Amino acid sequence: MALIVQKFGGSSVADAESIKRVAKRIVETRKAGNEVVVAVSAMGDTTDELLDLAHEVTPIPAPRELDMLLSSGERISMALLAMAISSMGYVARSFTGSQAGMITDAQHGAARIVDVTPVRLREALDDGAIVIVAGFQGFNRDTRDITTLGRGGSDTTAVALAAALDADVCEIYTDVDGIFTSDPRVVPKARKIDRISSEEMLELAASGAKVLYIRAVEYARRHGVTLHVRSSFNNNEGTLVLNDASRNNPGAGEAPMEQPIVAGVATDLSEAKITVVGVPDLPGKAAEIFTIVAKSGGNVDMIVQNVSTAVSGVTDISFTLPKPEAQQVLRALAAEQERVGFSAIQHDDQIGKLALVGAGMRTNTGVSAKLFEALSAAGINIEMISTSEIRISVVTRADTLNKAANVVHSAFGLDGEDEAVVHGGTGR
Ligand code: ADP
Ligand code: ASP
Ligand code: MG
Repeated sequence: MALIVQKFGGSSVADAESIKRVAKRIVETRKAGNEVVVAVSAMGDTTDELLDLAHEVTPIPAPRELDMLLSSGERISMALLAMAISSMGYVARSFTGSQAGMITDAQHGAARIVDVTPVRLREALDDGAIVIVAGFQGFNRDTRDITTLGRGGSDTTAVALAAALDADVCEIYTDVDGIFTSDPRVVPKARKIDRISSEEMLELAASGAKVLYIRAVEYARRHGVTLHVRSSFNNNEGTLVLNDASRNNPGAGEAPMEQPIVAGVATDLSEAKITVVGVPDLPGKAAEIFTIVAKSGGNVDMIVQNVSTAVSGVTDISFTLPKPEAQQVLRALAAEQERVGFSAIQHDDQIGKLALVGAGMRTNTGVSAKLFEALSAAGINIEMISTSEIRISVVTRADTLNKAANVVHSAFGLDGEDEAVVHGGTGR
């Protein structure tokens, strides 16, 4: 008997009808003779609505209480899903993250899973029940408080359950047919990818492709879990995310994974840019600035240092970071302006980031030239550049990002014949 973990995202359980549709799909998997464990997200945009509500009550909600609030979204969907399955004549039992043994560190809002003790889940499975687990949440043993894993964290719940229960596969059901060469909401000609390496998927996820949460991809890679991302709206085969070992050693009859130079293009509007102007060009100044940034909770992504055009002997240092962190970092930098000796700070929250990802970049030259040419032909200005072995990222104006993604997608020959279908969700 196989054990299958299935995760259903918010858009797949947005209303009562959708919950019944998903219940049917789960029952079919059970009927086919499998043990089934389900991780479920909150219905539709529930998490966003709860966050809005919290911010209507107070500008800075207490992290412990925010986790109590946000974790309630998944309790609603898990119970409704279990009811729907029961009404079809099958036994289903729902569990909160805490009941499921999802043990995390104490970091509210971004907790990491440190242990999974699925004793109650195993018992329920042995009783013949279908198990439904609330995604996105856990429990810390020291504080004895409920935690959440960060936005998109139900993906991690599913992967952690698959690893702990030694599942045969972890299926991530969502509102698109799989992983595409770009977000189909941004690039209508995006093509579905049949198989992608976890290495490339990690870079795409880190660059803003929210179809999979980065920590889930990392967890799957570390624990050897095979992910199958597919649509909950049809029965089409989706995308397999393969760990490097299985990619290089395909099973009998399987061709090795084709490796185009570029796997995909990711876009991200969630970052802001801060520029520290007129920094004395002396050893230790960058260290001082980034120590302040780190201490104030800034997670820096890209960094660029330029010789100032206005005055000699000084430089400008620009960096990007998640938008919600910008205010606290700006305040911390302003407080230290005199000591560090820079002349001004600029804040820009109208930037967009585009990333081109592909393992084939390692062995092919001219990829960046082609990227820059495509952007220049479209009249798009590049403000920052950063690279890894298999990724090139550029920062543009936010309002040119979609155009940039489409022209780059075409330039690298990624366009498909048909328009990609997005089945549900608001994309929020
Ligand atoms: P869920 O609620 O199921 O977790 P998400 O909204 O988190 O779904 O993720 C699915 C969405 O990810 C899609 O609707 C799509 O807009 C977006 N997306 C971004 N990049 C990609 C990509 N490369 N391939 C597919 N979807 C992508
Ligand atoms: N409900 C949570 C969110 O919206 C977790 C998830 O859906 O993965 O971020
Ligand atoms: Mg998601």
